[in-house]
Amino acid sequence: MGAGGLLAAVEAGCGGRLAAAAAEAPAGGPALDGAFESGKYTLPKLPYAYDALAPLYEARTLEIHHTRHHAGYVRGLNATLDKLAAARSAGDYAAIKPLSRDLAFHGSGHLLHCLFWHSMTAKGSAVPADLAKAMERDFGRVETAQEHFAAATNAVEGSGWGVLAYEPVAEKLLVLQCEKHQNLTIWGAVPLLVADVWEHAYYLQYANRRADWVAAFMKLANWGFASRRLAAARKAAGH
Ligand code: MN
Repeated sequence: MGAGGLLAAVEAGCGGRLAAAAAEAPAGGPALDGAFESGKYTLPKLPYAYDALAPLYEARTLEIHHTRHHAGYVRGLNATLDKLAAARSAGDYAAIKPLSRDLAFHGSGHLLHCLFWHSMTAKGSAVPADLAKAMERDFGRVETAQEHFAAATNAVEGSGWGVLAYEPVAEKLLVLQCEKHQNLTIWGAVPLLVADVWEHAYYLQYANRRADWVAAFMKLANWGFASRRLAAARKAAGH
């Protein structure tokens, strides 16, 4: 999946099926318009004026949040991708750990802020029937789902996010806490192939020689599986 595909997959990963079922909106949804253009991640425009949410969310706070903080994630994400490309060209992976962290930090920051701006509206908003039905099924009552969401968001330790999510295995709504956001890599990215490097996965055979286990995994890797998942993810993202 290209970078644009990854972006477009966000809504498929985070409650997108509800949004998709609701609408004629383009795949990827309006929250991602302007988030990736001409091969670079870009700062999307807000769907409202800076003063539109005042007094609940003051214009100056919103403007700084958007033009400094969100823009910083976008800059950092592009810069990190450039550094990763340089590392690959040089065959020098000495800085792969901090660069991977930077990728998750800036990538998650960019994508979550794109969704965040569209998670607020000046007009106020009733819960649409489809979402209400899902909330009643999974939480009992709409109000309970909202209370649960607010309580979880309030209780996020340190920096982070409250997230209402769609979990497609059980087709279930879940409320998640996202501590920081880099710890959970890029929200919305669809895993295609995963290698377990918890010690339980290899210690009995490889002891502390994780590199040997990873080399073994690379010989075992099922790229056909990854390719089929890529096709499914592209389809879900409308590509
Ligand atoms: Mn923020």
